Amino acid sequence: MGSLPFTTSDVQTSTAGVLSSPTLLCTPLMGTTVDQMLIEMRKAKEIGADVVEIRLDCLRNFSPQQDLEILIKRSPLPTLVTYRPVWEGGQYEGDENKRQDALRLAMQLGASYIDVELEVAHDFNNSIYSKKPENFKVIVSSHNFHNTPSAEAIGNLVARIQATGADIVKIATTALDITDCARIFRIMVHSQIPTIGIVMGERGLISRLLSSKFGGYLTYGALEAGAISAPGQPTAKDLLDLYNFRLIRPDTKFYGIIGKPVGHSKSPLLFNAAFKSVGLNAVYLHFLVDDVKMFFDTYSTPDFGGTSCTIPHKEAALKCMDEIDPIAKKIGAINNICRRPDGKLTAFNTDYIGAISAIEDGLRELNGVNPGASSPLAGKLFVVLGAGGAGKSLAYGGAQKGARVVVANRTIERAKELADKVGGKAMTLDEVEHFHPEEGMVLANTTSVGMKPHIDVTPIPKHALKHYCLVFDAIYTPKDTRLLREAKETGAVIVYGTEMLIRQGFEQYKNFTGLPAPEDLFRQLMEQHA
Ligand code: NAP
Repeated sequence: MGSLPFTTSDVQTSTAGVLSSPTLLCTPLMGTTVDQMLIEMRKAKEIGADVVEIRLDCLRNFSPQQDLEILIKRSPLPTLVTYRPVWEGGQYEGDENKRQDALRLAMQLGASYIDVELEVAHDFNNSIYSKKPENFKVIVSSHNFHNTPSAEAIGNLVARIQATGADIVKIATTALDITDCARIFRIMVHSQIPTIGIVMGERGLISRLLSSKFGGYLTYGALEAGAISAPGQPTAKDLLDLYNFRLIRPDTKFYGIIGKPVGHSKSPLLFNAAFKSVGLNAVYLHFLVDDVKMFFDTYSTPDFGGTSCTIPHKEAALKCMDEIDPIAKKIGAINNICRRPDGKLTAFNTDYIGAISAIEDGLRELNGVNPGASSPLAGKLFVVLGAGGAGKSLAYGGAQKGARVVVANRTIERAKELADKVGGKAMTLDEVEHFHPEEGMVLANTTSVGMKPHIDVTPIPKHALKHYCLVFDAIYTPKDTRLLREAKETGAVIVYGTEMLIRQGFEQYKNFTGLPAPEDLFRQLMEQHA
């Protein structure tokens, strides 16, 4: 069950591969009545699916002759008919002969595909031998709801499926780890007959999204969230609009964000829209990662371009890098990993650039632009509230720009440790209220005080804000925190956490592609999806 690295030869086979035809997008219909399924198939066509899967086992009162005639003949898309028994994860509990009769009838009535389970495929295929209409194909499927077996075991399974006379092999396994998908990719790339390879579960998502990269015959996309026919299935709409499914080819470079959890990240939305806007042959995915080292060891091909990195991997990922940007090293956390052409992994921290550049622009807005001058933060008294991940980025960034840094934190030991590292002073959060050795200081909140759902609290009383010329809040949910509202009322320039978020994204895009980020597009999408 070990995860073998996905090698360069796998990618080359995929690029030159035998199965270079476009992967089909199939939407399962899960309605419990024929009428519901008729509505669903029209919706599937509108969304942009290529095929609909009629799940006969979902129908409540199924009359084979009458219902199949209607469903197959009236479908605006080619049909794949499945009548999944309980023993293979479906809902049908009745007589096995009747089930297989219905599948044979579907074939006669013009279904493009039927899906039959490996356990009965041999006899079933014999029963339709020489009766198969032209262009009709039998998918022989095997489902494993527990794990993804070793590469050798999957290879043997493919051979068994092929031996039944299958036109198309379908293997669905379960991901216990995201690296399980690599074994299925390898099978799809090297298979001599059309193959559908799916790794079920949320850790298997990339097996569905990258199906066209690795020559999969078909991938499944649900009609809507919650109407899934197997665990981890994305919606057809997300496949098409969020992940640019139609643009993914064998030579498409892939990127993503590693995290746990990670599904909430808006990064795929931003990066995929950006890639599409400039015609870059690349896709950006959600990577739900448990073990960072295993992930990087497994996905090590040249067409894997790198990742963004979020909680809880910002520190663990450091150990897997070949090279670390000096400031990222000092901060002790990375959020952007790029694979260089020679295969080496280089890491950056773009959080600090995002935040510091936003604060610098805020100060320039206040004082006017002074071309050629050093950072407007140079010499400023810079009070950083918090000593966690964001606090470190801000404190190091400020110190690097020549600011005099003060770190204030609820846990004083953490404040002291960080202040020592950046050559600054430390104090408790409570002391900040009465700390005003001079006017025109800069304040950066990096604590989570004021973050949703506790939006009524603030880390520093309003009256203390009058000593600051600029106030930044790293929190971006909500965008308008109580701290920023009160700072504005006090007359300070304010800088939003969304600005840090978006600017760190610009830097990541530059690092990944070597191109400037389409900033207006990023901003527009952030506004739309805030
Ligand atoms: P973190 O590493 O967990 O650090 C949390 C910090 O908040 C610590 O300093 C902690 O103090 C302090 N804190 C938490 N609860 C507190 C409370 N009730 N009273 C006082 N202090 C409290 O988290 P992080 O990654 O730095 O994130 C912190 C905030 O920054 C979050 O709101 C996050 O969403 C935001 N952020 C924004 C961006 C962006 O792009 N805008 C990027 C990264 C983070 P102790 O040390 O005493 O526990």
